[in-house]
Amino acid sequence: MKIGNTNGPDRLAWHYEKTGIFTVRSAYRLAVRIKEASTGLMTCSSRPMGGRSAWNSVWHLDVPPKVRIFIWRVINGGLATKVNKWKRKLEVVNLCEVCGREAETEHHALIVCNHASTLRKAMKKFWKLPTEERLRDGDTEWLLRLLISLDKEQGSLLALLLWRTWQVRNEITHHEKVCTIEGSINFLKSYMESLYIAKQLPIDWSGNGKQKMASEGGGRRTDARHKLTWIPPSSGWAKVNVDVDGAFSSDTRRGGVGVIIRDKRGAVILTAWRVIFQAASAEEVETLACTEGLNMATEWVRDRVVLESDCSELVRALERKGTPRSNLCFQLDEIRRLCNRLPGVEFRAIRREQNCVAHELAQLAKRTTHTAMWRARSPCCIEQLVAQECNLCSE
Ligand SMILES: [Zn+2]
Repeated sequence: MKIGNTNGPDRLAWHYEKTGIFTVRSAYRLAVRIKEASTGLMTCSSRPMGGRSAWNSVWHLDVPPKVRIFIWRVINGGLATKVNKWKRKLEVVNLCEVCGREAETEHHALIVCNHASTLRKAMKKFWKLPTEERLRDGDTEWLLRLLISLDKEQGSLLALLLWRTWQVRNEITHHEKVCTIEGSINFLKSYMESLYIAKQLPIDWSGNGKQKMASEGGGRRTDARHKLTWIPPSSGWAKVNVDVDGAFSSDTRRGGVGVIIRDKRGAVILTAWRVIFQAASAEEVETLACTEGLNMATEWVRDRVVLESDCSELVRALERKGTPRSNLCFQLDEIRRLCNRLPGVEFRAIRREQNCVAHELAQLAKRTTHTAMWRARSPCCIEQLVAQECNLCSE
C-alpha cells in the first residue's frame, strides 16, 4: 500500500472490497472461503452443482472470454433481469417488458420470451442446437445442467445464441429498437466464421476479450467504434489525457506514464512522459498518471480541466463521494487536493482508441527509461499522431 506524502489521519478500511467499504456480499464470500478451507472442500462455488468439473463445462466453451463470463453471470443469477432487479427493490414489478406475459427470469429472457424463441428457431436452420424439449426446464441452475449435458460444440453455439439474445433484449428494452431476425442471424453466422478464422490464426484473446472480430457488431455499431477518436474540449476547458504502459515485467516492475494537455483547438499545451520503477500494481500507476496530469494542469492551465483516462475503474473511484478507503486512498486524497487548486475538474472514462497519444507517450517512457516534460510541443515521434487526432475530429 502506498503511503501519502502528507500526514493525514489513520482510517479504518475493509480490505476484502476494493473500495475498502464493508459489504455483506464480501463478508459472505469470506465466510464461505473460511468454511471451505476448514472442511478441505475447495470448490469454485458454494452452489450444489458448482463443483470444479461442473464449471469446466463453462470455462472450456469455445467462445471469447466475454461470452463465457456472460454465461457465468447467467448461472449465478447476475443478469439485470426484471426479476433480479425486483428482488433488489430496483423495480416495482418483475414482469417481462418485451412480452408482458410473465416474470422475467433468466430462463424467460433467454429461452421463453418471443424474441428469444423466434431467433432460436431461425438459427436452428444453420446451427445444431439442443432440442426444445431439453430447453424447457427452467429450474435453478438450468443452464449449468444443460451445458454439462451438451458436447463442447453444441454448448458453444448455445452460449453464443444466448449472448446475442440478451443483446437483442437490451436493444428492445433500453433503446426501444427492434433488431431484425435477419440481422441477428447474419451477426451470429459471421461471428462464428470469424471465430473459426481466429482459431487458425495466432490471435491473442487477452486484453479483456476486447479482441476485434472482423465482423463483430455487424453494420453500424462497428462503424461507430472505428470512428471513436479524441474529441477536443469545449471552450473554457482544457483536456488532459493520461495513460500508462503498465505491462510490468515482474523482475523490473517498470512502467511508463504519459500525459498530454490540449486546448479546444487541439493545440498542445504540454506533453510529458515519465518512467516508473518498482510499481506495485497497474492500478497504482494509473492513479499516478492522473496525479501527474493534474499536477501539471495546476501549473500550466488556467481553464477548467477535463481529465480523460481509459481506466474506467479509476474514473469511478475518482467520482465516488466520501472518504476513500481503498489501498490507493492516500493517492486519491492527493488527487482531490489538486482538484481544489483548479477552477473545475471533470473525470471521463474513454476508450483506448481515444487515448492514443497518451498511450504512445507512456510507451516512450518505458522504452527509453526516460522522463521529460515539453511545453507547447510534442516529441517528433508522436507529432503525426497528434495531428491525425485533430484532423479526424475536424472532419
Ligand atoms: Zn417476455
